[in-house]
Amino acid sequence: MIDNASDVLVIGGGVMGLTTAWQLAQRGVSVTILEQGRCGKAASHAALGALWPPPMARAGALQQLHRKSLWGYEAFVQSLQAASGLHVHYQRRGKVELMNSAEAFHTAAQQCEAANTSWPLLDDKPVMELLTSAQARQYEPHISDAPHGAHLCRWSGQVNVDQLLEALVTACMRGGVRILEGMRVDRLECDANRIIAAHSAGQKFVAEKCVLCAGIGMPAIASNTPHSPPITPVKGQALLLRVRNEVVTHIVKSGMIFLVPWQDGRILVGSTTEPEAGFDTTNTAEGIHFLLQGATQIVPALKSAVVERVWAGLRPTGPKHRPVMGKSPAFDNVFVCAGHFKIGIGLAPLAAAFMAELITTGRVEPGMEAFALPTNAQ
Ligand SMILES: Cc1cc2nc3c(=O)[nH]c(=O)nc-3n(C[C@H](O)[C@H](O)[C@H](O)COP(=O)(O)OP(=O)(O)OC[C@H]3O[C@@H](n4cnc5c(N)ncnc54)[C@H](O)[C@@H]3O)c2cc1C
Repeated sequence: MIDNASDVLVIGGGVMGLTTAWQLAQRGVSVTILEQGRCGKAASHAALGALWPPPMARAGALQQLHRKSLWGYEAFVQSLQAASGLHVHYQRRGKVELMNSAEAFHTAAQQCEAANTSWPLLDDKPVMELLTSAQARQYEPHISDAPHGAHLCRWSGQVNVDQLLEALVTACMRGGVRILEGMRVDRLECDANRIIAAHSAGQKFVAEKCVLCAGIGMPAIASNTPHSPPITPVKGQALLLRVRNEVVTHIVKSGMIFLVPWQDGRILVGSTTEPEAGFDTTNTAEGIHFLLQGATQIVPALKSAVVERVWAGLRPTGPKHRPVMGKSPAFDNVFVCAGHFKIGIGLAPLAAAFMAELITTGRVEPGMEAFALPTNAQ
């Protein structure tokens, strides 16, 4: 059976596929999402929703895109709420990051100066501030001593990921996007005029264009497409603590461990980085120990917290931990948006807007060329 119902097929209904589909629908494009499982239940579902801008010292195209996406996050959430009619909790509580060495403190001093001269202003306070251990405790009274000081980043925010994904699905449906779940694409047939995405049950979907947002499923789909993007999984374990009284009010970070507190007593703890784990999504004693030890070292009062949930997800990762976004070098009507590693929730608004612009007008937004598909990848 052949289905010709849309202009663009979006393959994969994670945060990237949903946001891109919604952006395309807003431009009047008819879109079908083909999702093998349920939308938003793969890597995106594992995310903690932490949104902190990378420091100015990191001046690459990815960091610039990330910062710009975060500057617009509040407006993005507002328009998503309007389109979906659903509440999406987003707030900028700020991040207190503890420094692990005198050198890190020195670097943070430079970062604060650079951020305060170039980031958008927030109220009338500096967007980043260097803190002594005592000052850090004024913001977060329950944290351990920070012998090398800390910094406060007021631009750091957080979004409720479950609400975000539900609102994206609803906004897509209200915007006319057709969402087909349980529809795994096994094969793509591409030529200059049309794309055929084939499901194993014999069903075929035809469209003028397609955009591949299938995360770690990319290599399997695109294996019969020249220059298929090299996306690999990097496992991350995380957990949810519940406390009766609020013990942290900002995102608190030290080394690899970060805590994302919500006013209702939930504290999300992230995360491990396990590239060697392949496609394994189990929670291990070592991973959970790492997270709990880290969390209770930062905030000893968390020793009495209830462990409510543990989980693991597979972050889709492009070459050198950079995403792949752009047009296929082999076909003008095949596009890719995948591999956003640890920051896909933060990047989604701007990455999807850029993809929608590219797909509908052919225009490559400034900075996007840095994420073009490698021409020599197989
Ligand atoms: C523990 C953890 C914590 C994280 N925390 C944060 C955070 O705090 N902030 C942040 O910004 N990011 C965070 N991330 C990263 C973020 O989750 C990812 O970058 C983002 O979700 C990637 O979105 P995606 O849409 O590309 O992939 P996915 O969400 O994996 O979506 C891809 C979709 O494609 C579908 N698919 C695959 N193959 C096929 C096929 N053949 N046919 C049809 N459909 C297919 C899959 O089922 C899936 O639904 C975290 C990730 C993890 C694991």
